[in-house]
Parts: sequence; structure tokens; C-alpha cells
Amino acid sequence: MNQFFSRRPDIGRRIRVSFEFFPPKTEDMGARLWEAVTRLEPLQPSFVSVTYGAGGSTRERTARTIGRILSESGLAPAAHLTCVDATRDEVDRVIADFAGMGVKRFVALRGDPAEGVGARYRPHPGGYANAAELVGALRSAGDFDISVSAYPEKHPESPDFATDIDMLKRKVDNGATRAITQFFFDNDLYERYVERARRAGIYVPIVPGILPVHNFAQVANFSSRCGAHVPGWLAERFDGLERDPQTHALVASAVAAEQVLDLVERGVEDFHFYTMNRADLVVAICHMIGIRSHAHDKAGSAAA
Ligand code: FAD
Repeated sequence: MNQFFSRRPDIGRRIRVSFEFFPPKTEDMGARLWEAVTRLEPLQPSFVSVTYGAGGSTRERTARTIGRILSESGLAPAAHLTCVDATRDEVDRVIADFAGMGVKRFVALRGDPAEGVGARYRPHPGGYANAAELVGALRSAGDFDISVSAYPEKHPESPDFATDIDMLKRKVDNGATRAITQFFFDNDLYERYVERARRAGIYVPIVPGILPVHNFAQVANFSSRCGAHVPGWLAERFDGLERDPQTHALVASAVAAEQVLDLVERGVEDFHFYTMNRADLVVAICHMIGIRSHAHDKAGSAAA
């Protein structure tokens, strides 16, 4: 057994998790999302967030997904929101619509250009120029819980870490209450980033974003575009498993559990999971860090 856990068996009680979903495009995808939501709800996440497509392309679907979470679950939803291709008035209306539905949490982002990651970003002439301005708008619109992004390996557009941390500081100064990181696989990079942020006077929680590797080829491809480094040892672990989904899933669960357990040992108590609308790996990893289904607890105590 992991030495740390044998010494601290109650650690699960101090760890908080949140889960990220994306709005489904089809009925089948909707069913898969809802199955994941239903399986993950008993783990009692602090909140669940729903992403927002480039240029508001998923605005309706994001709102529908959030509406269903509000009406059919006991979960607290956070709406992602971007500045892309929208005027300030348009963004303000979206904020008011979400607030009218009962949304109290937002994840405020600049977003990527509609042409895709890597294309040059041009703010809308009448819009919010970046995530810091969007945070300011949210903060004046209501008493919301506001999360923002953070990049342990720096954002690909940032010339250096100082510029990157400066943007995080501006977002926090404008009212962000938490940063959630881009996924990463090397915990030293995360720790160094948190140290840099603390030195710059940023004291909000910087919650690691954990990506369980459902499909290594896809993750490797996506990583290269969003500035997250895939270490050689990770490629090595998944090498040869392209046609063996069962072993791939077992390895993915071990890899993510190892990463999360190491972060717990470094004192991290909050985790945000990029679920990709799938529950299996997330349930397994949460189980490893002592987060058990509430329903399971009740069944256990009833049987005892
Ligand atoms: P910002 O915080 O405004 O900037 C990020 C960094 O880029 C800064 O550190 C800054 O130094 C640098 N930078 C920005 N602009 C410039 C510039 N003009 N010149 C030099 N440097 C610059 N995308 C979506 O479309 N929908 C989502 O729902 C979504 N959810 C996300 C959730 C999380 C937790 C994370 C980490 C990312 C998410 N993204 C999402 C991706 C995000 O939109 C992109 O990474 C985007 O490129 C930057 O948005 P941001 O809010 O991080 O930008």
C-alpha cells in the first residue's frame, strides 16, 4: 500500500474534486454524457463545469446541458464562457441568461480563434479583449464564483513565464477566485508554476487539471497544439496499446492515479478532472484518493 495512505487513511475527506464536461452534439453523445453525470454525482464534486465552444458555437448546447444539470441533479454547474467573436453586450446577455437560470459559477476564458488553436487571436473590436476583462465583467455582474485558466507549461502564445503569470495576476486582481490548470503530466512543472504564482502575489487555489488518457494518440496530438508536453515515459507506457483498449484503460487508470497520488503527497487537496464525458477512469482514480460514492456509503452503512 502507498506509504502515505497507510499513514493517513482519512485523506479522502479532505480532498475536493470537480468534473468538466462538454456539451453533446448528438442524442447518443447526450446519453453518454448523462450516464457519466449520473455515475459521478455520488462522488459529491464541489462543482461540475460545462465547456463553451469557439465563438459561442455551443452556446445553446452549453445552456441546455447546464439547464438539465440544474433541474435533474443536485450538482452545482459552472458555465464556461469565452470572449471570442462577441461584443461586450452579447457576452453580458449570455452572463445574464446564465444567472437567470440559477448559475452561480463561471469559468472565464479568452478562448481560441474560430479558425482553431494556433491561429492568431484578434479580439472582437467591441468585445472583451481577454479573460481578465471578462472576469471584470462577471465580477461587476454578480457575486459569482469565477475560475480562470492557468498554464503550468505557459500558454503557447506567452513569450515567457513572466508574461503568463502576469496575465494570471490580472485575472485574479479582477476578481477570479480560483485557477484551473491546463492538463500536464509532469508534476514538477505544476509545482514550479505554483511557486512562481505565489512569488508574484497570487494566492488563489491553483487547481491541477487532470486528464485521464482515454486515447493516447488523440492526447498526444492535442497536447502539441495546446502547449502541454507529453513526456517520453508516457508515450512508452502506451506504446503498442493502440488496438488493446482494455489494457490501455488499465494503464491510463494507473498513470492518472500515480500522478494524483503524487500531487496529494505534495499537499494538493483540490483536483479538476477533464472527464471527456466518461466516468470509468475518473471513478477509479477518485476511489484511489479515498473519494467514495455517497450512495455506496449509504448502502454500506445500511448493510452493517
Ligand atoms: P488568457 O488567460 O487571456 O491568456 C492566456 C495566456 O496567453 C496568458 O498567459 C497570456 O500571457 C497569453 N496571451 C494571451 N493573449 C496574448 C497576446 N495577444 N499576446 C501574447 N500573449 C498572449 N476554450 C474554449 O474555447 N472553451 C472552453 O470552454 C475552454 N475551457 C478551458 C478550461 C480550462 C481550465 C483551460 C485551461 C482552457 C480552456 N479553454 C477553453 C482553452 C482556452 O480558451 C485557450 O487556451 C485560449 O487560447 C486562451 O484562453 P485563456 O482564457 O486561457 O486566455
